[in-house]
Amino acid sequence: MIQDLFDLNGKVALVTGGSKGIGMAMAHGLARAGADIVINSRSQEEMDAAMDYILGGTGRRGHSVVADLFNRDDTVRLAREALNTMGRVDIIVNNAGTNIVNPVDRIVDEDWDRLLELNLTAPMILVRELAGQMKERKWGRIVNISSIFGLCAKEERGSYSATKSGLIGITRTMAQELAPWNITANAIAPGPISTPLTDRLVQGELRAYFDSMMPLGRWGKPEDLVGPVLLLASDAGSFITGTTLTVDGGWMTR
Ligand code: NAP
Repeated sequence: MIQDLFDLNGKVALVTGGSKGIGMAMAHGLARAGADIVINSRSQEEMDAAMDYILGGTGRRGHSVVADLFNRDDTVRLAREALNTMGRVDIIVNNAGTNIVNPVDRIVDEDWDRLLELNLTAPMILVRELAGQMKERKWGRIVNISSIFGLCAKEERGSYSATKSGLIGITRTMAQELAPWNITANAIAPGPISTPLTDRLVQGELRAYFDSMMPLGRWGKPEDLVGPVLLLASDAGSFITGTTLTVDGGWMTR
């Protein structure tokens, strides 16, 4: 049956930053496809509400971990707790991320370090910690959430672009090195998606500029990421590895 290609029954997916925005929508999609779900964020209260939505009507198991991925020890603890609680992690969706905007001649060291830690180092650590047990089962899926700004530039987004381009770079290496164990690694580069992050950061003239860059005539919704992540997280995407899938309403055609 065609649905079997997307069936994730028996799999466990770790979706970082699953408490809101794109992460919550993807976690919900993965649960509907049959996966048990682990999420993290810095707020237990938000995760409790998110988990109700993510698991609602699916009958799946879920676990949430308060972990601040600006902090390396928390990232390692997240990997270990996910594994110890669920017994396995088959799918890693490295989604947690943020943006701190500044022109390149005014980047603040502390901001740079925090962005690098959350957007690039945490994905590396989670894969480093969890790839071994994927190798044992000869099946794994890594989906790294990059950005169109990992592929093109926009003023004041230099630090963000550096982290998101770096994520695309290490995704290719993950794909090469882990391929012998049937583990795929891919990146998704979303364009503008309406989430708490963009509601906060993209306003006024900037919002009008973003609107003008959308050939499909609208911003994305978090749910627009569900199909792409299911493709890359399931057997439907078995022969796709090392690629970056833009999900941007056509922004990159401009
Ligand atoms: P969002 O609405 O701000 O959600 C971000 C998620 O990550 C939340 O669950 C948040 O939880 C968590 N998070 C943030 N900082 C964290 C930290 N230090 N430790 C642990 N968890 C943390 O963002 P979004 O728009 O859905 O973005 C999700 C991903 O997509 C990011 O990697 C972003 O760069 C990427 N992206 C977004 C867009 C877009 O237009 N929205 C476009 C391209 C790429 P707490 O803050 O409560 O901890």
